[in-house]
Amino acid sequence: MIRYYNSLTKRVDEFHPLVAGRVGLYTCGPTVHDFAHIGNFRAYTWEDLLRRHLEWRGYEVLHVMNITDVEDKIIRKANEAGVDIREYTARYTEAFFEDVRTLHLEPAHHYPRATEHIAEMIELIRRLEERGHTYVSGGSVYFRIASFPAYGKLAGLDREKLIVGARVDADEYTKDDPADFVLWKAHKEGEPSWDSPWGPGRPGWHIECSAMSMKYLGETFDIHTGGVDNKFPHHENEIAQSEGATGKQFVRYWLHCAHLVVDGEKMSKSLGNFYTLRDLLERGHDPRYIRYVLLGTHYRRPLNFSFEALEQARAELSRIDDLVERLEREATESAGEARWQQRVDAAREAFGEALDDDLNISGAMGEIFKLVREVNAGLDRGEVAREDADAVLGFLREADRVVGALFPFEERREEAPPEVLALLEARTRARKERNWAEADRLRDEILARGWVVEDTPRGARLKRR
Ligand code: AMP
Ligand code: ZN
Repeated sequence: MIRYYNSLTKRVDEFHPLVAGRVGLYTCGPTVHDFAHIGNFRAYTWEDLLRRHLEWRGYEVLHVMNITDVEDKIIRKANEAGVDIREYTARYTEAFFEDVRTLHLEPAHHYPRATEHIAEMIELIRRLEERGHTYVSGGSVYFRIASFPAYGKLAGLDREKLIVGARVDADEYTKDDPADFVLWKAHKEGEPSWDSPWGPGRPGWHIECSAMSMKYLGETFDIHTGGVDNKFPHHENEIAQSEGATGKQFVRYWLHCAHLVVDGEKMSKSLGNFYTLRDLLERGHDPRYIRYVLLGTHYRRPLNFSFEALEQARAELSRIDDLVERLEREATESAGEARWQQRVDAAREAFGEALDDDLNISGAMGEIFKLVREVNAGLDRGEVAREDADAVLGFLREADRVVGALFPFEERREEAPPEVLALLEARTRARKERNWAEADRLRDEILARGWVVEDTPRGARLKRR
């Protein structure tokens, strides 16, 4: 039984999806005004763990992540750069997808872009208007929170005492109520705009996620996530917009991760402790260890990022690498039966139970390292036979479908697309037949598709170029 801490009910709830066996998951995605920083990737990596765990437990997950490609900062920066927002955001959107691959995050099934869903947003605002939740002022449309008594239920706010949050404050149009928020912004000089029933303008930030999540996941869906900073006002406003328009519950489980901090301090450019994923790669850090650090702290606790933590990740994971090598080298001849099977099954069970418990990753990794210690001791005593080694390796591979960092990244041949794998097979055959010219030609063809072939004592491996 899977349980999550639900920010809406403020307790740990049993998880039951709306439709048995299927999960609709919406994760707030990047605002593509710059490279994503490792704080953002803390959120995305934890969401990846959440999704992989559900899939490992047999659920079919439909995962949607938005790309916010029109918004105040984007418009300002694109104007400064003298290009239109499309050109400006294309670069950072591409970089984001590259980072997703680098960290081995499972790609979402849909990455809806805000600028491609303006019609859906206008339609949603129209429905809100029909139900009396909006007013127009100076060509902009606002959500009147006084019309939605449940406002504040997620963030646990008392409506009477609402203070103006940053995003709300950033809006410079006149409003009836300081916490009312903008749904449609009237056109301003130098800003991109679209036609609407209220005149030319552009959507507010919050309406994007309501419109796009409901389009792909339905008016009520299972899980919506983001970092804690998204809880208010963004997610509170999403609830008001969606439930105000449909009269139905919007999201059943709201999950939020705590922030990443650096050496105990908030990450900020002025403190000089601000890192994008690219910064870390440039310093030579292996994405496998970065992923492991981002995953390793329970998502509801602040994650303290440091270079020592990366070093510790390397040390911890090398214990698994060492065991894998030992199993390949030192397992004894077949003993006729797998004596370790029961022990491995118990590890699998405990690993799963820990993750079922609100994604207790430390508990889950603890089970893996306990097994690693015991199997090492077994190898010392010469008590691990070939079939035991296979059972242990099988479990580690299985657990890695969830963790995604137990094995070195470059060894994961299965990551390459099928046509590249087929070329590699053909090259291996050509080499066996000593047809060197053909083997070289195939190697070049593989290279042209973005993969490098490395010949190792254990056979050919593929690495991303
Ligand atoms: P943004 O691009 O600012 O909308 O943020 C994208 C995602 O990253 C959201 O889910 C944020 O809540 C999350 N996020 C932003 N900063 C941090 C941080 N320091 N630690 C963890 N998550 C963060
Ligand atoms: Zn969002």
